[in-house]
Amino acid sequence: MKVLVVGNGGREHALAWKLLQSKVVTQVFCVPGNGGTASLEGCRNLPLNVDDFEGIARFAQVQNTGLIVVGPELPLALGITDYLRQEGLTVFGPTQAGAQIESSKAWAKTLMQAVGIPTAAAAVFTEPASAWDYVQREGVPIVIKADGLAAGKGVTVATTLETAQTAIQEAFQGKFGLAGNTLVIESCLTGEEVSVLALTDGLTIRPLVAAQDYKRIGEQDTGANTGGMGAYAPAPLVTPTLMQRIQEQILEPAIAALRDRQIDYRGVLYAGLMITPQGDPQVIEFNCRFGDPETQVILPLLEGPLEPLLLACAQQQLQQQPEIVWKPEQAACVVLAVEGYPDAYRKGQVITGIPEATDLGALVFHGGTQMKPDKLIADGGRVLGVTATGATFDQAIAHAYAAANCIHFEGKYYRRDIGHRLLQPIA
Ligand code: ATP
Repeated sequence: MKVLVVGNGGREHALAWKLLQSKVVTQVFCVPGNGGTASLEGCRNLPLNVDDFEGIARFAQVQNTGLIVVGPELPLALGITDYLRQEGLTVFGPTQAGAQIESSKAWAKTLMQAVGIPTAAAAVFTEPASAWDYVQREGVPIVIKADGLAAGKGVTVATTLETAQTAIQEAFQGKFGLAGNTLVIESCLTGEEVSVLALTDGLTIRPLVAAQDYKRIGEQDTGANTGGMGAYAPAPLVTPTLMQRIQEQILEPAIAALRDRQIDYRGVLYAGLMITPQGDPQVIEFNCRFGDPETQVILPLLEGPLEPLLLACAQQQLQQQPEIVWKPEQAACVVLAVEGYPDAYRKGQVITGIPEATDLGALVFHGGTQMKPDKLIADGGRVLGVTATGATFDQAIAHAYAAANCIHFEGKYYRRDIGHRLLQPIA
């Protein structure tokens, strides 16, 4: 079977890599892919944009593609699945209506409130005066969120009234474009964050192992928010009992609520959770796709092939699939970024040392790279994700860092504390 993957990040490289391990998958196409997918045996990049639905449909039809897997949220929010399905193609990824669970925080909050999914108390505002009144009434800390997609930059956790006021003003002045015309203002939760991704065909839910990621650029979780600087899985914080609760109190009610709204949701339902000091899971956000870099630590732990699971979701036959089996291992991923990221950064630096890193047994997933005829160059802020697995977290983390140290490019920057909270103290 031929599979087409939409996207160009580390997540899509990991998806293509795992899909190609299935005996049934003969070829993967990546739209547009990156230097990593270009060098994967059996994978070909296509120079099409992720929003060129017509071009993607035409290519997939000519190639008789059996499955299309959509990586990023943007094409999902723009309705890629609706378009491709109308063209008779089989797609893993929710429709535009389903993608609202990520593309509109107000919509997602209303859905959660309607069916009693645990989440921070919140109100929705479409003009600054009432938003500011609410903040003054509620006090700080308080969280101000742009309603729409803002590439992880639309959220302010305000600890002073001044910060809250500025966040409200800037959003309504157009800092996030239309995404900030509506604000969700919610109470501030404390605890530990964890991501639980589940595969679903809209009827059945199959949670994947829980992962924890590192969003901030600086060590000790300081500095600006990023797309993610590292991750590990399975997150020990999520015990089987807690996973059961997350499934019963969050994932299943969410899918049931989508179904009640006539939304046919087939893809990943990603719950970004805060586990409170009392041990209760609260939803911070839902995403409608695989996480990046969570995918780079989850897929290497998956024992069997990925393609039957994704196809079963797309064809609404997930219940017929056997239970997912996980390797009894731990995985860690260290993201190698370029100095300056998430603000302005350079591109075009030559990357060396990947063969040495893979010789150590690591998986190097490309986030922002481009393959030139004679060299691999950096082409994004998050350049590579170096994943290693091991019998223990100590081993996985040590391997990931050993491999990361083999790789060189000018301005390489990475956090040195990925997984630190899991490491066993040396006796
Ligand atoms: P991303 O796309 O990076 O996942 P986002 O822009 O969609 O993020 P959220 O996930 O809702 O936005 O929030 C970003 C971060 O802000 C969270 O990971 C969390 O650290 C913090 N945050 C969001 N909501 C709350 C809350 N109610 N209480 C405390 N912290 C919060």
